[in-house]
Amino acid sequence: MRRSNLALVLRHLRDAGPRSRARIAVETGLNRGTVSSLVAELVDRGLVREGDVQRGGSVGRPGQTVELDGRNIGGIGVEINVDYVTAIVLDLTNAVVFEHRVALDVQALPPEAVLDAVTELTIRALGECAGRDVAAAGMTLAVPALVDTDEGVVAFAPNLHWTQVPAVDGLRHRLGRPGFPIQVDNDANLAALGEYAMGSRAGTRDLVYLTGETGVGGGVMVDGRLLRGAEGFSGEIGHMPLNPGGDLCGCGRRGCWETMVGLAALLRMAAAPDDPVCDPSLDLEQRLAVLSGRADAGEPRTLAALTLVGEALGLGASILVNVFNPRVLVLGGYFASLGDYLLDPMLAELRARVIAPDACQVVRSTLGFTAAARGGAHVALEAVLDDPTLVPVRHGA
Ligand SMILES: [Zn+2]
Repeated sequence: MRRSNLALVLRHLRDAGPRSRARIAVETGLNRGTVSSLVAELVDRGLVREGDVQRGGSVGRPGQTVELDGRNIGGIGVEINVDYVTAIVLDLTNAVVFEHRVALDVQALPPEAVLDAVTELTIRALGECAGRDVAAAGMTLAVPALVDTDEGVVAFAPNLHWTQVPAVDGLRHRLGRPGFPIQVDNDANLAALGEYAMGSRAGTRDLVYLTGETGVGGGVMVDGRLLRGAEGFSGEIGHMPLNPGGDLCGCGRRGCWETMVGLAALLRMAAAPDDPVCDPSLDLEQRLAVLSGRADAGEPRTLAALTLVGEALGLGASILVNVFNPRVLVLGGYFASLGDYLLDPMLAELRARVIAPDACQVVRSTLGFTAAARGGAHVALEAVLDDPTLVPVRHGA
């Protein structure tokens, strides 16, 4: 009972912001004495701190506010994608404790070597945490794949060439059985959760997120909840067969949407194979900056490729908007970086093909290539929000 009340107060402070104990009591339905005692315990655990003195509030006499703290608790999010591995650590207020991305040609490496690279990056993140007195609450791995989240297994990742990789066990073993839980989930699902928690349109309950990577995936939030489907494999929108008989997809089929709008499709149309922008050993954001510069300079091949991708993006997105009626469609990954050139042709297609085009706004993710890792870090912190007693009382408290 006390544990769930601690969770209730902590979550309320995170979602509703700083406020007085009296106001928390009114809003949660707990009595005032209980709230004071719960807040005192959350302060002792370093999850809540005293804030400003608030005057003229509507409830009771002026009182000191309390606010979310949690600077000493970190959630680790790590993303594996075709061109890179990235890690981010967020504290309970979503402030960044650590962030690093490594360019990696994942397709050229066996899963074991990629998990070694993830481990190396995680150990760096943990080192930074230790130096800043941040304790890890958990870790979530994001992968562009069908994921068995219960078993911690990457079931099928067409663009990584992974089948049935026990990623969670592999990491737990490599990290020497750490004291925090490790999970794995689909990158688009985690990115959608990241957008919902901390993106520019955070809190939008009906939201679709599109990963713009080599693979194209979707994370679909319906009424504030992630749509998972019967087996957890929903959102595989990159494999909608929009051009039957078209190019071969990483999944083995032909003409999937991904073959028209994935990063590989753009690069194939925009540049020769030996062009440095196609080199996976170079940092993806730098390669995209080069492409963007060419488009700015009016380079015809680049502009033509971006227009074609934008139109194809609008074609597939129109299906999603007609089916899910989202309030917001968030463009992630390279769709966001090159949005200046993709958005106009995309929106023209949407206007032409969506039955109710005004209901949905298309926005570019402000979380860039960190959306999935941020979502993973956010999910890792949920354990603390569910059970604040996981965080020990701090010495001297
Ligand atoms: Zn496919």
